[in-house]
Amino acid sequence: MKTNAILLLVALTGAASAFAQQNPDAAQKARPAEKPKPAAAKPSDAAPPPIATPQADAPAPKEHPLTALPYTPSLDVPSMDLTANPCNDFYQYTCGGWMKNNPVPPDQASWSVYGKVTEENEEYLWGILLEDAKPRADRTVVQQKIGDYFDACTDEARIEQLGSKPLQPLLDEIAGLKAKSDLGAFLGKQHLRSSGNGWLFGFGSTQDYGDASSVIAEASAGGLGLPDRDYYTKTDAKSKTIRDQYLAHVASMLELIGESKTAAKADAATVMRIETALAKASLTRVERRNPYNLVHKMTVAQLDKTAPAFPWKTYLSTGGVKVTSLNVTEPKFFAEVQKELTAVPLSDWKTYLRWHAVHSRAPYLSKKFLAEDFHFYRATLRGVKAMPPRWKRCVQYVDRDLGEALGQEFVSRTFTPETKAKTVEMTKAIETAMEQEINHLDWMTPATKTRALEKLHAVANKVGYPDKWRDYSSLKIERGDYFGNALRATIFESERDIAKIGKPVDRSEWGMTPPTVNAYYNPQMNDINFPAGVLQPPLYDPKLDDAPNYGNTGSTIGHELTHAFDDEGRQFDAQGNLKDWWTPEDAKAFEERVNCVREQYAGYTIVDDIKINSKLTSGEDVADLGGTLLAYLAWKAADPNETKSIDGFTPDQRFFIGFAQWACENQRPENLRANAITNPHSPGKYRINGIVSDLPQFQKAFNCAADSPMVRSKACQVW
Ligand SMILES: [Zn+2]
Repeated sequence: MKTNAILLLVALTGAASAFAQQNPDAAQKARPAEKPKPAAAKPSDAAPPPIATPQADAPAPKEHPLTALPYTPSLDVPSMDLTANPCNDFYQYTCGGWMKNNPVPPDQASWSVYGKVTEENEEYLWGILLEDAKPRADRTVVQQKIGDYFDACTDEARIEQLGSKPLQPLLDEIAGLKAKSDLGAFLGKQHLRSSGNGWLFGFGSTQDYGDASSVIAEASAGGLGLPDRDYYTKTDAKSKTIRDQYLAHVASMLELIGESKTAAKADAATVMRIETALAKASLTRVERRNPYNLVHKMTVAQLDKTAPAFPWKTYLSTGGVKVTSLNVTEPKFFAEVQKELTAVPLSDWKTYLRWHAVHSRAPYLSKKFLAEDFHFYRATLRGVKAMPPRWKRCVQYVDRDLGEALGQEFVSRTFTPETKAKTVEMTKAIETAMEQEINHLDWMTPATKTRALEKLHAVANKVGYPDKWRDYSSLKIERGDYFGNALRATIFESERDIAKIGKPVDRSEWGMTPPTVNAYYNPQMNDINFPAGVLQPPLYDPKLDDAPNYGNTGSTIGHELTHAFDDEGRQFDAQGNLKDWWTPEDAKAFEERVNCVREQYAGYTIVDDIKINSKLTSGEDVADLGGTLLAYLAWKAADPNETKSIDGFTPDQRFFIGFAQWACENQRPENLRANAITNPHSPGKYRINGIVSDLPQFQKAFNCAADSPMVRSKACQVW
């Protein structure tokens, strides 16, 4: 299910949920959930993109599976820098040692506590998959699917032998298009029964904004090869350079499928022309944060009137979609589609589709495709120095395509009933703290408070893994057919998605797989979701006491819960309907408080002279601020008499150190630049320093003087 408004704990940079959206930046467009995840790609012997040598100070990727998940405590004194003054720079104080000891590995764009746990999970899953890949007779259905998928994915000799051959039928189909009217049937098949959703535009199921209990069809803006529409429109020198590098990349990919250098160069310019027109007609990320900008229910006849040059009826019937109405996120975009379809000749559309065909399938082809794809999307855009090893990418693809099968293997080995019980209990404690906060708010009227409590009580808590596992039995997975497996998995997922249209919403569904080290709030489901992967050390730590656990995992739970009441989430009601339940004066008082946070974060620098775009990050910043306070209050209620110091730190100090240590990270400058455009989360340093400098509880815990950098004279508080 496509959801426009799912709110994550951290940005996703890993494999997307669809074949067509393979590169990590495309993954961000799909926006499933919110803490970091790694990427995809590997070096080549042909097509020589100059992959830089790994940084001298970074360790080489590990090359052996883990038989057990390693343990690091969720309050780790060696990760601190005790020479720093906590009142001057709390992030340096809590994460200084970690940052010094954990340089970004060559195959990553950034490195963080979350990234490290993710990688450890992958190394552990690798061992499980190697075992499941052995063709034993006693494998379960789940073990056969994930084992054979992994085996085919790591069979590099076979993949090299096939070269670009698996792509040929699609290229032939594109070459065979005879008229622009053929695009209806072609895209209907590619979007909904194959592997190209997102070419020209996107299509899928969504919960009805006006009635969250039902699932409807939705057409959305799409069609770009760069990670965001802003890449096409920004006029600074750096953006122009990236566009030149993109043109060179598109040309190189087209050369790899047999075009001459001259033809490929001209074709890349054609692609850029079409994509730039689509980009200019697309909403910005900040505009998309307002859900009302995305709601335009119309009949298929009305859509037909907006873009009559596109054969909608053929498109829908080819895709097997039987609807008479749908939501169109951005009608202005489809008016542009109409203009482009009329003006651009068929031969140029074929060029555009050839590019997207090779782009979307590059990860499933031979090394030269992988290398060129890596060179632009990871090395150029994110500063990554080396491709991740094959095994790692294959673990990520199994997780993406068979995540609830792999998840069963993960959960049965790693997620104990004790951890589940304890984290469920923490979640309830934090909800109780929120209830008390709402009751005590001095800026909200009783009428709005009643509605807010209604919404709070309706939040569904999902902890660890789904109650019922997805059934993959109809998905055929074969050894030796990596391309076919990935294609069939995409078709399986897109058919599953389309089949939901017209049916009641399934509220038990998860938008994240169990091994994922992330969490999310979905405003249309009104649920908070914490996969097993995010509830393990050094995040949730069953060996430690409540102070660091509430600081770390408690803040994560509070963060997701606060999303239900951030500037975006607050516009949805208890059932997930987009519906205004605020009195005008309460809405105004809320916005004033959010503006305080926006002003605060707009002052922080991301890299060079780029400041945080706090209109993009305000939902996350508000969630960080509210979530930390809720976790603190819930912890105080759970352990009101705790006074014992450990390692020389008081319980209050240990709460805040535990809180800060989830966010320790190092980032490449290229990645910071890309994140400044695409990531709704502020950099880790400000997710810590920005928050504690608003909290008097922190200042008291560390005896900070009123004029310390970590004490804001104008502290912000929303919740
Ligand atoms: Zn978030």
